[in-house]
Amino acid sequence: MNQSVQVFKIWGIPVGYNSTWYLIFGLITWTLATGYMPSEYPDLSTAQYWIMALITSIFFFGSVIFHELAHAFYALRDGIKVNRITLFIFGGVAELDDEPKTPASEFKIAIAGPISSAIAAGVFYIIYLIGQSNPLIAAPAGYLANINLLLALFNLIPGFPLDGGRVLRAAVWYFKGYAKATKTAAITGQIVAYGFMGFGVFRMFTGDFFNGLWLIFIGWFLNNAATMHGQQADIKVALDNVPVSRIMRPSWLTIDGNLPISKLVDQHVIKGDSRYYFVKNSGYGYEDADQPHGMLTVTDISSLAQQAWSITPAKQIMTVWEQLVTIGPSVPLLDAVRQMDERNINQMPVVEEGNLVGVLTRENILHYIRMKADNPDMGTGTGQVAPA
Ligand SMILES: [Zn+2]
Repeated sequence: MNQSVQVFKIWGIPVGYNSTWYLIFGLITWTLATGYMPSEYPDLSTAQYWIMALITSIFFFGSVIFHELAHAFYALRDGIKVNRITLFIFGGVAELDDEPKTPASEFKIAIAGPISSAIAAGVFYIIYLIGQSNPLIAAPAGYLANINLLLALFNLIPGFPLDGGRVLRAAVWYFKGYAKATKTAAITGQIVAYGFMGFGVFRMFTGDFFNGLWLIFIGWFLNNAATMHGQQADIKVALDNVPVSRIMRPSWLTIDGNLPISKLVDQHVIKGDSRYYFVKNSGYGYEDADQPHGMLTVTDISSLAQQAWSITPAKQIMTVWEQLVTIGPSVPLLDAVRQMDERNINQMPVVEEGNLVGVLTRENILHYIRMKADNPDMGTGTGQVAPA
């Protein structure tokens, strides 16, 4: 993806643009300065057209940010982190860290965008009415009123990922459940996307080449987003219905705490036995304990200088048991994935009533997702927990 440039921060959210935005900013300014402004207000100078065009463009993208901030405001209110707001070639996007938890939350976050654009349209229309006699005010304000209204209406088209598609998804979610909602969102999103592309082709061949091409691009972008979302949602549904205990590894390797790292590497790590080892400290006071005393990962080993491997016992660089992030066997996989992502870890000991019963790793989860993709019916049945 394009690296985005941060311009400012609001409510802790970085707001910026990526390099594709220059293109649309330039195109809109140019169209305004050479097309819209001169045809609406013929008596001004070229310099005045360009200055008005530039100011109008800035306010236009300000309006887009306003729209995205409305989404962000309701996301934050519902406890969803907003990673960034970015302007790009097709407008703006507020990137949420997570999906809304309920249909009501999804509805509020989605509808806030078009409503804010409608409000902006109203405000610019009032400015237009007040400043009607002065073309330097009326021209930009009139354009901004129209474009914001258009922004509100365009975003209400019910094809995911447009806001209207999210509103529709919230409604289906509320009445028919999450799995059905994401399916509907993906399908309507693709229908709308192909609609754009079809209409674009039609326009291209009926004399409006560039607008046609533009519509095809928008359709292509929407189709990608809808398809990707559909795949993510499938994974989410698959992971949400399965408890950790179904796919965790029920066995693990235990090593002695006094084993030097060099020996551990020679005997196990280099052979690819495992990427993590449970460590038991032998010696006085330790014999009774059934529990491992800590865990050692390949990452721990690689952060130790190689010269020190032969003189460092495993117990010295292990994470002690009390500090390990563990998970219960009945937790849905989706929550497990979230915790792994948040804490940036690759494996979690599965613990039931204080006892180690298995290990869940990222490889486990990836393997499961791949297996599910190849054989959708495999692994359903016994052991499933009811979705909450
Ligand atoms: Zn929106």
